[in-house]
Amino acid sequence: MRIDLHTHSSASDGTDTPADLVRAAKAAGLDVVALTDHDAMSGWAEAAQEADEVGITLVPGLEISTAYHHRGVHLLAYLPDPTDPPLAAALDRILAGRTARTPAIVDALRRHGIAITEDDVRRESGGSVAAGRPHVADALVRLGHAGDRTQAFTDLLNPGKPGYANRYAAPLEEMIPLVTGAGGVAVIAHPWGRSGGTVLDEAALSHLRDLGLAGVEVDHQDHGPDLRARLRAIAANLDLVVTGSSDYHGLGKVDHDLGVNTTDPEQYERLVSLASSP
Ligand code: AMP
Ligand code: FE
Ligand code: FE
Ligand code: ZN
Repeated sequence: MRIDLHTHSSASDGTDTPADLVRAAKAAGLDVVALTDHDAMSGWAEAAQEADEVGITLVPGLEISTAYHHRGVHLLAYLPDPTDPPLAAALDRILAGRTARTPAIVDALRRHGIAITEDDVRRESGGSVAAGRPHVADALVRLGHAGDRTQAFTDLLNPGKPGYANRYAAPLEEMIPLVTGAGGVAVIAHPWGRSGGTVLDEAALSHLRDLGLAGVEVDHQDHGPDLRARLRAIAANLDLVVTGSSDYHGLGKVDHDLGVNTTDPEQYERLVSLASSP
């Protein structure tokens, strides 16, 4: 069983449509793939239909933008009830923050002398309800202001760069109970990657587990061998589920091919058994 529990489609900032992503997962030899678009469940229906067609198990999920002690933390939520009103309201607030940020980024870039419009960005974010910096990056590339997404981030879109603008993220300590309250399973994405940093130490993870956190994504490209070993030991101490995933974004992120990291079948079974949505 090959299981990849973290991927992005064009419903957020991936470059494959949900159906294309599911076909690519099948072609990569996966048996189970989770679709975890940023703050959005809008790709689920198309992905589920294609998964039925090609014969692969689709786990509906999402990667929620949260904040903990002033740091951005990405929270993976698996199998929540998509109609749960408190969760839907919380996601709407995050999506509104994304929508409001695009004009702020465009304004900042224009003040920096770069000719770009909101329409240029909308052209890239077309199928997505979760407008993000990757779409701005794609617009900058198309307009010739950057060579690729990575360069656009490094030169213009990362914090401290001329085109950076902040946006709303939900408090992590509120989001974990919201996810579990919606019958879902909460797993912290790349806890020690770019965003999590050192804030999420064992004491913090223990506290978050008391709020309902079920697991941590250990095997992720942002974690080197040493970080993985240390995080795995903490997960064992705290009896947290351990996952491994690609964080695939299609052509949008290099070195994140489908199945590059996978989740142990026993860990996957435990994760699914914790879900309680209808
Ligand atoms: P946002 O959520 O709109 O602030 O954008 C953050 C997203 O941009 C992350 O989820 C990554 O997928 C993507 N990202 C961040 N840095 C880079 C990079 N250097 N190259 C490509 N994608 C990136
Ligand atoms: Fe992303
Ligand atoms: Fe992430
Ligand atoms: Zn991701």
